[in-house]
Amino acid sequence: MGLVIRGISVSRGIAIGKAQLLRPDELEVVRHTVPRLLIDEEITRFRVALGKARRQLRAIRNRIPRHTPADIAGFIDAHLLMLDDTVLTEAPVDIIREQQCNAEWAVKTQCETLVNVFEEMNDPYLRTRKDDIKHVVDRILRNLMGPDNAMTGGKGHDAKDRIIIAEDISPAEVLIMHHEGVAGIATRFGGPNSHTAILARSLEIPAVVGAPHVQEFIQMNEMVVLDGRQGTVLALPMPVELQYYRKRQRGEKRRLQELKRLKDLPSKTLDGVHVQLMANVEIPEDIPVIKKVAAAGIGLYRTEMLFINRDRPPDEEEQFQVYRKIVRAMKGAPVTIRTLDLGADKSLQEAQRHHVVMTNPAMGLRAIRCCLKEPEIFVAQIRAILRASAFGTVRMMIPMLSTLQELRQVMNLVEEEKKRLQCQRKRFDEAMKIGGMIEVPAAAMAANAFARRLDFLSIGTNDLIQYTLAVDRLDEEVNYLYDPLHPAILKLIRMTIMAGQKAGVPVSMCGEMAGDPRYTRLLLGMGLREFSAYPATLLEIKAIINSSRLDVLEKSVKRILRAETQEDILTRVETLNSLH
Ligand code: PEP
Ligand code: MG
Repeated sequence: MGLVIRGISVSRGIAIGKAQLLRPDELEVVRHTVPRLLIDEEITRFRVALGKARRQLRAIRNRIPRHTPADIAGFIDAHLLMLDDTVLTEAPVDIIREQQCNAEWAVKTQCETLVNVFEEMNDPYLRTRKDDIKHVVDRILRNLMGPDNAMTGGKGHDAKDRIIIAEDISPAEVLIMHHEGVAGIATRFGGPNSHTAILARSLEIPAVVGAPHVQEFIQMNEMVVLDGRQGTVLALPMPVELQYYRKRQRGEKRRLQELKRLKDLPSKTLDGVHVQLMANVEIPEDIPVIKKVAAAGIGLYRTEMLFINRDRPPDEEEQFQVYRKIVRAMKGAPVTIRTLDLGADKSLQEAQRHHVVMTNPAMGLRAIRCCLKEPEIFVAQIRAILRASAFGTVRMMIPMLSTLQELRQVMNLVEEEKKRLQCQRKRFDEAMKIGGMIEVPAAAMAANAFARRLDFLSIGTNDLIQYTLAVDRLDEEVNYLYDPLHPAILKLIRMTIMAGQKAGVPVSMCGEMAGDPRYTRLLLGMGLREFSAYPATLLEIKAIINSSRLDVLEKSVKRILRAETQEDILTRVETLNSLH
């Protein structure tokens, strides 16, 4: 049997191909003392390297294919901005002068300082920014250390049909590789929230990150099988293993083809109940994918992507243009725009600059709390959403509500902005629906009260699970406790669905649980009639819905809801899934 390396699955699909080790050797930086007389020369050498790095990144940016999502170019812009930031342009110069050391050492020292600051941050978004620093510093170092180490970004190692094996990969590199036709990506570092992972998913490149020693075990040009669904990398597969994976690959392709036939069919149970299938969207460029699976609308548009990777938040006009583009593209189908769900009390870039460290960001000033604290940013977003509502069916959704007081504040702000827009003779949909996410246990328990005051509810299981079970959804150490089938989670979901039914308002689910086919029948039986999930999974969910009988499911689910242990629930859910 070949060697199996396990990592974290971040983008599904099977890739089979030859390994391309990217930058196989770590740069070894050694310290030299630079005589005082030559310090200025050393500083010039540093500045020249910085200039080269900038030119390379600009060249990469110019090579981005035209249809590439704008946010992706944003990643490169962020790296370019870093190359202009004094923490990278001036601090190394000070170090060269103070320590009389070579430029490489100064850059490495400064990089370590910055990485330490980021590593101490609790916020996962901010923590991943340390990867960006490393990528940028790596580029400067390679320019300092001469042509042998130079990195032009894609050039010199054609990624076509290759499986890239690397310690880490920058978003800029992913882009170039995608352009070259890369088959898959496996890295030693990285997490599911890194920009690289987000990109791999959105570009549909099978990818595994956090695969320990992947670079040491796999040699250049070796045959590799990457299983993005299982999160494994198999080196030197035996012929029989290759055969197995090729078969699975063909099977996946066939299955996708078969699923495509469901595209234009209604999503309806065997006993005739319609179920809404909506898509989760990260960037406006996801829209063509939504069309491919014929989603009934957008159930969650996470607006955060518009706000990260930049110095200042987008203003009302910029947001309006983006929202309107999405709304127009959806041609009257509902577009649920979630208001900003950032994790710190400042906009991300500001938080980074001031090194704001929160002891417990998930429970701190996040999402609506943050918006109400900084109404200026929030009001601009509300106005942009309202204005976009004149061009289609827009629904505004508030994340992380925990009290009615928050809701009242939001409603007051919306009313004020409606009046202001009227005075300014700007169009908007007077009846734009406003909904709330149920993702804090308190909100689920008070779902009746929220349902009476809102037009719709949407269950955010990702956070509902983490807050209910007191399990950080990003912490590998306690991941084993993160279980959607915990009886407490099922009770809270059920309470929310019932609250919606009682108040006559629709209840959707937009957390990952909604996109996981293992839970589709359970959720149907619990009364869920609207699922919102990443587009690639929607047809699979539809296939399950269309092969289910609600009357049967409802009976079984009643028993499941009475079960006390997760094992018992799991067994019953598996039985439910095996029903024909
Ligand atoms: C959720 O919490 O389930 C959700 C959809 O929101 P996010 O994953 O963006 O926190
Ligand atoms: Mg959430």
